[in-house]
Amino acid sequence: MADIISGTQLSKELRTAIRGKIDSIRKAGNRVPCLAVIIAGEDPASLSYIRGKEKACTAAGMDSRMFTLPADVSQEVLEETIRRCNDDPDIDGILVQLPLPKGLDEQSVLHMISAEKDVDGLHPINVGKLYLGEDGFVPCTPRGIMELLKRMNCDLEGKRAVVIGRSKLVGTPVARLLQNANATVTVCHSRTKDLKAVCREADILIAALGKARMINSEYIKEGAFVIDVGVNRTEDGHLTGDVDFEDVLPHVQAITPVPGGVGPMTITMLLDNTLKAYEKRVK
Ligand code: NAP
Repeated sequence: MADIISGTQLSKELRTAIRGKIDSIRKAGNRVPCLAVIIAGEDPASLSYIRGKEKACTAAGMDSRMFTLPADVSQEVLEETIRRCNDDPDIDGILVQLPLPKGLDEQSVLHMISAEKDVDGLHPINVGKLYLGEDGFVPCTPRGIMELLKRMNCDLEGKRAVVIGRSKLVGTPVARLLQNANATVTVCHSRTKDLKAVCREADILIAALGKARMINSEYIKEGAFVIDVGVNRTEDGHLTGDVDFEDVLPHVQAITPVPGGVGPMTITMLLDNTLKAYEKRVK
């Protein structure tokens, strides 16, 4: 019988622990951690994500500041907003909601965020630290995936891991984390030949391709650990993952559902990264 690992439950436990730490900070009379979220434009999905982040900060006892800029904001104004957040001693973490509206230079924006406040882990210094195995900020979704594998009691050492997707936000950093944990890692993408055969070798399969229910039992090695990162909206408005959950379930050792798997863990790791940024700055 496969284990269905709930990210909602694991998040609840981790957020309770974070809340406890912040309560102690507050009780000691100290300033609590603060996350700044910068959004440009009114994309409904992005607005809903940032509301979720704001709510999570409040529930954890953290402060948050929202900077809502119009879709036609200039690069200069956006960069000035980041500069102010970098210089503000009461802000510990900065997150710029991606994707940015067309015409804005995302790379330059990510370079501008102070590496010490880069809780999304996308600044080149933090990307470099991940590759060198040094302590820096790791992107939230990959961190959440690693926590879920831990909850699955999945021993990574020497195991064969396959990651489908090579984005800078998910696929590439999670592949590095798996390699740092001594798994043997293969990264697949849209040009990979015979994806099914590669996936069938995976003791651990991370599906982060953004194709609704594409990964069925034909891609699965018996007894594999499967993390479904995909979030896809079906025609009737439901959310579904990249994995065909019902088809795969009888063949796996453990699996995460969608919704209620990786999604809640991403926000939990954002809270944890913000707390970590605060602790480093206070020290
Ligand atoms: P992305 O930037 O679009 O990257 C998708 C990756 O999948 C690319 O590397 C692409 O290959 C690869 N790919 C696409 N179709 C493929 C196919 N048929 N076979 C093999 N590889 C294929 O997406 P992302 O930002 O990494 O996100 C991936 C999924 O995770 C999306 O559904 C997204 O909504 C979800 N997500 C969830 C969370 C969460 O918190 N739950 C967070 C982030 C993302 P190429 O590089 O060759 O184009």
